[in-house]
Amino acid sequence: MASEAKRSTQHSANALRALRRRLPGRVAVDKASRLKASLDNLRISFEPQAVIRVEQAAEAGQVLEVANKYAVPVTARGAGSSATGSAAPVRGGWVLDLSALQEVRIDPLSRMATVGAGVVTADLQAKAEKHGLFYPPDPSSKKYSTIGGNIACNAGGMRCVKYGVTRDYVVSLEGFFADGQPAGLGLPLKKYVSGFNLRDLWIGAEGMLGVVTSATLRLIALPPKRWAGLFAFRTERAALRAVTGLLKAGVQPSILEFLDRQSVACAENYSGYAMYPGHAGASLLLIELDGSAAEVRSQRSALLGYLEDRALGWKEARTEVQAEKLWQVRRTCSQSMYSLADTKLNEDVVVPLNRQAELIAFTLDLKKKIGLPTPTYGHAGDGNLHVHIMYNRKNADEAKRAREGIFRLMEKVVALGGVITGEHGIGLAKVPFMQLQHSEAEMAAMQAVKKALDPKGILNPGKVFEPFEVWDHPSLDVRLPWDHR
Ligand SMILES: Cc1cc2nc3c(=O)[nH]c(=O)nc-3n(C[C@H](O)[C@H](O)[C@H](O)COP(=O)(O)OP(=O)(O)OC[C@H]3O[C@@H](n4cnc5c(N)ncnc54)[C@H](O)[C@@H]3O)c2cc1C
Repeated sequence: MASEAKRSTQHSANALRALRRRLPGRVAVDKASRLKASLDNLRISFEPQAVIRVEQAAEAGQVLEVANKYAVPVTARGAGSSATGSAAPVRGGWVLDLSALQEVRIDPLSRMATVGAGVVTADLQAKAEKHGLFYPPDPSSKKYSTIGGNIACNAGGMRCVKYGVTRDYVVSLEGFFADGQPAGLGLPLKKYVSGFNLRDLWIGAEGMLGVVTSATLRLIALPPKRWAGLFAFRTERAALRAVTGLLKAGVQPSILEFLDRQSVACAENYSGYAMYPGHAGASLLLIELDGSAAEVRSQRSALLGYLEDRALGWKEARTEVQAEKLWQVRRTCSQSMYSLADTKLNEDVVVPLNRQAELIAFTLDLKKKIGLPTPTYGHAGDGNLHVHIMYNRKNADEAKRAREGIFRLMEKVVALGGVITGEHGIGLAKVPFMQLQHSEAEMAAMQAVKKALDPKGILNPGKVFEPFEVWDHPSLDVRLPWDHR
């Protein structure tokens, strides 16, 4: 046994030596670097042996070549903002940090941007705007998250109701297969149907099928006008009925966000800003329209025609600053919930649009049954609601009830015809629910794809397919860049 451990240590040391010879100066093994790369927003830490911060795309290929030769696990990393533990190197090995790949080239003629995997989402948006162009995907983490991470998680956000998710903007990818061979998945062209679509396989694969070093992304014309309004409803049911009614009436919001009363209370206490003064205890819809001035005018009148009499009250943002204030409060929802308890189970489930009211009735009932808060908000225009269960991790009874609550929730979601994750992906956190969602044959097909593209299983091992229970792993109480508390 002891000699086996010795052999394995020797093997890892040889692999690291080989890597250092190939990429001198890129390999960090100090405690601080390893700790930083050991976790993501799930906050469960697994220290890697080394962190490799590549500065050129080709260097990622060299890392993989060595890793594949020595069968060392490699976890690609952007900003480490993943909500599911997908960026945590659960099997140790090397973290491949791509955040230094920062090139941005915008082609206004074909309306495409070719960007390094490490470019931060909001930075790309700002650069595109200078050309009158728009990159719509906008996860709430956009000031931190990277394009590589967005692609690997197929990130969504608030604007998906009108503009779709990250996948809808990926034209082509460049990167490396598991053995370090270069991969060009598509080309920066308007049309491309040659061969199997490996590009779409990599999108949402959480870095388990290949490593992206750059992407060409579709841009659209920047909508010249925005309008934002906030509508208060006595109950969640009334708010969600308004959502389906609005969509049926042909209103096409660019954002359609729902907040239940528990979430509104958290966000208001946290920000010190009353979202809808005079209607404490209301459920809210936050709605944005965009387009030309004429489009926004006609959509606004259709929207108000439908909502004015149905809402308890409403207000509109008259300036960009007022609109930003509304969204800022919405964006703080996630952090604000820690006033309820120290630990959050955050589920980004999706159900059919006309079944959201049933899901909310279920979460309110669940709150009573498990005796824990279940604040819920999210992208009601997509049926994608963030249901949270808040509990105190050190309280064993609360932890047990939280676990039970999540299982009941997932069963309900699947029974409603929904999916266990709409934007965060599986990582570690959603593993226990994969079998609720997917048949054995579907799981086997996914594993066959993994085996074909990564025969030695070095890319982000320990995720998606292998058993993991978040409840068995204490999360670190660390401050991450997006924590404002
Ligand atoms: C405050 C907050 C708000 C959030 N809001 C949203 C939201 O509204 N919508 C949403 O969808 N998500 C949201 N998220 C989750 C997260 O930000 C997204 O999943 C984001 O896409 C992750 O990007 P990242 O650069 O941080 O990736 P990381 O966390 O570093 O990595 C995520 C996954 O991608 C893989 N990966 C990273 N880079 C590459 C690469 N170049 N090639 C291959 N694989 C790679 C990693 O191995 C890992 O599996 C939020 C997170 C936080 C903390």
